[in-house]
Amino acid sequence: MRFVDVIARKRDGQALTRGEIDLFIRGVTDGRVPDYQASALLMAIVFRGMSGEETGWLTDAMVESGERVELTDVPGPTVGKHSTGGVGDKVSIVVAPLVAACGVTVPKMSGRGLGHTGGTLDKLESIPGFRVDVSIPEFRQMLCDVRVAIVGQSPALVPADKRLYALRDVTGTVESVPLISASVMSKKLAEGSGALVLDVKCGHGAFMKSEAEAYELARSLVDIGTRAGMATEALVTGMSAPLGRAVGNAVEIAECIEALQGRGPADLMEVVIALGTRMLVLAGRDDGSGAEQAIRAVLASGGGLEKLRAMVDRQGGDVSVIDDGGRLPQARRRRTIAAERSGHVSALRADLVGRASRALGAGRRQVEDRIDHAAGVLIVRKPGEAVRAGEPVLELLYNDDAGLAEAETLAREAVAIADAPPVLRPLVLGAVR
Ligand code: URA
Repeated sequence: MRFVDVIARKRDGQALTRGEIDLFIRGVTDGRVPDYQASALLMAIVFRGMSGEETGWLTDAMVESGERVELTDVPGPTVGKHSTGGVGDKVSIVVAPLVAACGVTVPKMSGRGLGHTGGTLDKLESIPGFRVDVSIPEFRQMLCDVRVAIVGQSPALVPADKRLYALRDVTGTVESVPLISASVMSKKLAEGSGALVLDVKCGHGAFMKSEAEAYELARSLVDIGTRAGMATEALVTGMSAPLGRAVGNAVEIAECIEALQGRGPADLMEVVIALGTRMLVLAGRDDGSGAEQAIRAVLASGGGLEKLRAMVDRQGGDVSVIDDGGRLPQARRRRTIAAERSGHVSALRADLVGRASRALGAGRRQVEDRIDHAAGVLIVRKPGEAVRAGEPVLELLYNDDAGLAEAETLAREAVAIADAPPVLRPLVLGAVR
C-alpha cells in the first residue's frame, strides 16, 4: 500500500480501513511517513471527517504507539477526570482530593498551559517543591499511598500524539472533532483508569465556542471511551466567564485551598460538585443522590483538604502553604481595572481575561516560555454583581510590567456593564452518557 493512495482516498471522501489507519500511525511513530504526507492526511481528515469507527481505530492505533499505565496493583476503583480547558479552570485540584477522600483512587496526568487557558501542572508548580515529573512506578506508588496524584504526562505514553499535535499546531489542523477526540482519548485510555468523567467546556474561553460543537465533541469522546470498555461520561459546562475569582497560578492554588476549606465561589463549586458526583457514580460508589451527599460531606468535614495536604506532601511540595497562603509566590505590583460606569457586570469575557493573565506572565506563548507563578488576574466583581463607577472590577497582579499595557487593554475590553443584572444560566448545561 502506498501512503499517497491513503491520502487520496480520504481526500475523495472515502472511509479509511483499520489497516490504513494503522499504517499512518505506525509511520508517524517510526518516522517513515514524512511530515508533508502526514500533514496532507490530517488536512483531508479536517475537511472530510471520520466515522465513529474510523475515529475509534485511530485512537486504538495511537494508544498502541506507546506504553500503557498498568493500575491493577493500585487500590480501586479508579476514575480519571479531564477538562478540555478553560480560564480559571482549577476544578481538578479541588475535585480530585474530594473524590479520593470518598475512597476512590484518582490517577491524573495533566498538561501545561498553552494559549489563553491555564495548565493544572503550572498551577501546582507554584507550590514550592511540588514535583510533577515522576516515573510511572513512582506515580503508581503515590496512588497506593495517597489515592490521588496529579503528575505530568509520561513521554512514554502515546508518542504518536506528540508528533501529530506538533504538526497540527502549525498546519491549521487542530480544529477537527475526530482528531481532537483521538488525541484526548488515546492519552486517557493509556493512563489506565477504569472510568473517566470529562468536562467539555463551551463558550468564549473554550475550544468549542457553541453548545452544538461542545455536544458533538462530548458525544465523540464518550463513544470512544465506551467502545474501548472504559465507563465514560461528559458534562458540558459553560466557559463564557472565568471560573471562580482567580486566574493565574499561585492565586488559583490559594482559591483551591479556600474551596476545600468550604469557602469556594459558587460557580466553581457548582462544577466541582457535579463532576465529583459523577466520578463517584462511575466508580460504582452510589446512585447519584448518595454520591453528591458523600462529596458534600468530605467538603464539610475537611476530608478533601486533608487529601490535598497529603498529595502535596507526597509530591514534595511545601505543605505550609495550605495553612498560610502567604507562602505562595506573591506579585509585587497590582493595577486596578475600575468600572467606567455604575450598573451590573453583564459579561466578563473569559478569553480576554485569559489573554490578559498570559500578558502579565502567568501563561505561555511558546512551549519553552517560562511563566511567572505569582502573576494573574483577580476578579473583584463577577457577572451579575453590582458595581459603582470607579470601583474595582479586576485587579492585575504582576512583577514585570513588559506586558502590562496589553493586559490592561484586554482586561478593559473583557468587562461589560449594563443597567440590569444579566440572566445567568446554570454552568452545568447537560450530560452525555
Ligand atoms: N487537547 C489535546 O490533548 N488534543 C487536542 O487535539 C486538543 C486538545
